[in-house]
This record gives sequence, C-alpha cells and structure tokens, in this order.
Amino acid sequence: MISRIDLRGSLPADLRDVLPRAELDVEAALEKVRPICEEVRHRGAAAVRELTARFDGVELESARVPAEALTRALEELDPAVREALEESIRRARLVHRDQRRTDTTTQVVPGGTVTERWVPVDRVGLYVPGGRAVYPSSVVMNVVPAQEAGVPSLAVTSPAQKEFGGLPHPTILAACALLGVDEVYAVGGAQAVAMFAYGTEECRPATMVTGPGNIWVAAAKRLLKGRIGIDSEAGPTEIAVLADETADPVHVAADLISQAEHDVIAASVLVTTSVELADAVEKELPGQVAATRHSERITEALAGRQSGIVLVSNIEDGLKVVDAYAAEHLEIQTADARAVAARVRNAGAIFVGPYAPVSLGDYMAGSNHVLPTGGCACHSSGLSVQTFLRGIHVVDYSREALAGAAPYVCALADAEDLPAHGAAIRARFDWEVPA
Ligand code: NAD
Repeated sequence: MISRIDLRGSLPADLRDVLPRAELDVEAALEKVRPICEEVRHRGAAAVRELTARFDGVELESARVPAEALTRALEELDPAVREALEESIRRARLVHRDQRRTDTTTQVVPGGTVTERWVPVDRVGLYVPGGRAVYPSSVVMNVVPAQEAGVPSLAVTSPAQKEFGGLPHPTILAACALLGVDEVYAVGGAQAVAMFAYGTEECRPATMVTGPGNIWVAAAKRLLKGRIGIDSEAGPTEIAVLADETADPVHVAADLISQAEHDVIAASVLVTTSVELADAVEKELPGQVAATRHSERITEALAGRQSGIVLVSNIEDGLKVVDAYAAEHLEIQTADARAVAARVRNAGAIFVGPYAPVSLGDYMAGSNHVLPTGGCACHSSGLSVQTFLRGIHVVDYSREALAGAAPYVCALADAEDLPAHGAAIRARFDWEVPA
C-alpha cells in the first residue's frame, strides 16, 4: 500500500533526489493555462462564463453570487457547523491579530530617519478550492489574515458547483457571510486567477490573489505573478511525520490517511528511526483506509510515488531528511518532541507531540492552513497578516543630515560611474560637496 525507502547508513549527498515527491509539472500546465488567461484578458466576463461551462459544466448567467444566496446559505447552515466555523474564526483571529506589525522609525543620524510603514494591499482576490473537496475552512484561513491586515477590499471566488445551481458550495457561501464578505464569485481554476489579475466587466481587478488550489490554479498564479501579487504556490497537500519508537502507530497511520484524503496526488510521508513502528503503521493502514469513506482516493495517494516510509538510523538523520523534504505539514512524534521540533529549519507548519495532529491545524488550532507545498517551505511561509502588507520605507533627512552623507554618496556614485547621482547631491550645496 505504501513504499519504503531505506536510508539507514549514510545519507545521499542530495536527499531531494531520493525522497518521495509528487511529479507535479507546473511548467507543462503553464502552456495549457496561458490561452485560458489570454481569453479572460481579451474577452472578460464572456470568457469566464465559457470556461466555467467547459471545465465545471455550469452555464453561469453571472459570475457574481447574489447577496440573497449568501444570506440564505447562512440561514440554512447546520447549527453545529456554524458553531464550529465561529470557533475556528475566533481562534484564527487571536493568532493573526498578534501578527500585526507596528511601524518602526530608526534615527540613522541626527536629523536623518527611516520609518518603515506597513500598508495593506488595496484589493485581494481570495481563492477557495472546490474541485474534489470543498473547503469552507479555506475561507476562514484566507479572509481572517486579510481582514486583520486591514485590506480594504476583499473578494472570494470558488468553483461553480453543478449540484448547487451553479453557485459555490453553500458552506463556502455561509462562511463568507459569517465573515462579512459580500463580494463572492462562482469561478474556479486558472480563469479565476485571470479574472482577478485582469478584471472583467463583473469583477474589478485585484492587486493580489491568494489561496490554495490545484495545478491549474498554481500554474495561473505562476504565469500572472508580477501582473498580480501572489502568496506562495500552495498546491497538493503534504504531511511528513518524524517519529521514533515512542509514537503510536494507530495515530501515525490515521494522520497519514487524513492528508491523503485531500487528493490522489496528496503526499503522506513517514520518516522513522524504528523499523517496528514502520511495520506497525504499514499493518495498520489497510484496515483504517478500508473503514473510511474516501478509501479509493486515499489508496491511490498512499500508493503514489509521492508517498512513502523513509527509514533513518537516528533522529539526527531524520532531521536532515525532513529539512530536505521541507514539508507543508510536519508532525514530530518522538520522545522530547518539543526539543526535536525546535531544531527543524524547513516546514510550512510544525505539529508537536501526540496531541497536535494536522487535522487540528486544518481547522481549529488558530494557525493558518494555507501553507507552501512542493518543498517551497525552504524559502516561503504560509499565509499570514504579513502576506497582505507592504513595508514602505519613508526617508526623511534634513539639510545637515544630507550634508553628512554627501561625500559618501558622491564617492560611491563615482565608483559606479553614475556621476548624475553625485550631481543631484552637489546641486543642493551649490555644487560643493560638504567636507
Ligand atoms: P480547485 O478549486 O483548485 O480546482 C478546480 C478547478 O480546476 C475547476 O473549477 C476547473 O475550472 C479547473 N479545472 C479542472 N480541470 C481542468 C483542466 N483539465 N484544465 C484546466 N482547468 C481545469 O479544486 P481541486 O481540484 O479540488 O484542488 C484543490 C487542491 O488544493 C488540492 O490539491 C488540495 O490538496 C489543495 N489544498 C491545498 C491547501 C494548502 O494549504 N496547500 C489547502 C487546501 C487545499
């Protein structure tokens, strides 16, 4: 059901060559996505409607979700789900509110200051996936940090669903209503990213698009980056579990299965120092998989080349492996899990010990679940308030402070053969550089 890689003994020089990883060819998808984005750019709302008919099988009258549909979805929401969403929002707000940054002013020299002013982007398009599974939790994870950052204009988009009259899933609409978002579109895939990048007759262009999605969404984000700001490419989900003989195989198997449930190309990787644990997890998997609803999807994900059990000699090597893998979600299920977790350098989010499974982080930990995948956690972070802010340096120097800097500016400008730079300083001092 799941393959094994034995790395006991010496580790290969480049671990990334041997670790399980999805072969997700975003570059190849770019070619498919380019004409989709061009269609939307040149033909706007009509192209969005045609592409939705082609890829989602829904004939849209308008991409914009009417206000009544949002109100109705909230009224009809199961009270237990409403309570859970409200608690998820409350916890996420606590964490994201603490991420807000304050402006800093540094006096560099007397009369010379640099202030870093944090300003939210003007308008954000938030993508909420809705192909294989629907993610009202992703509404919370996108909207809460944007709101806490103070973004003035927010729009949510999620694929049109045939079985819900061409609207996004009602739980997604209800989550938008709970969060006070009234601009919602029934558009998915690359066309949704293009709609936010270029704007259409129905949707004003946004300055930034964020949120997880499938390969088409990730490719469109990569293609249109620059035209529009993006967060990280949050693609098919991944879990890595670093475990030793103290871990409970029933919990480890359940956690591997829970992430495989997202997608046939989701990755579940166990890195362990214990052959006994590896055996016990392998023995545990078939029974738990058979007992769950999406067993076919899970079986395919676990058997895929992106999933596997990696055996290592000791925790030191285990740490090297998980750092090279740079998982979106990393669980530490070892003795002294806190100390081991503190040594991890690359992961989207770290879940410490037996009572912090990834499912908690998906919904209710307060942390964000839109996280970098595909190894991008070695250079990128998950969605946060910071994603939506720009730090603007405000430079304020007096005549005296500029006089103090003038000889240095002129010397460096000459060294770079950019004499007009020096001249711009000299002009302020009657062409004499102050001593
Ligand atoms: P999705 O909303 O990302 O994609 C569905 C859309 O894809 C459809 O609306 C359709 O327009 C488009 N599409 C489908 N087939 C196409 C084709 N052949 N060509 C062009 N466009 C096409 O939903 P999904 O497919 O369920 O994917 C969601 C992904 O998001 C999963 O891989 C899941 O693991 C991931 N996810 C990641 C995170 C994270 O934080 N990393 C969080 C939640 C979900």
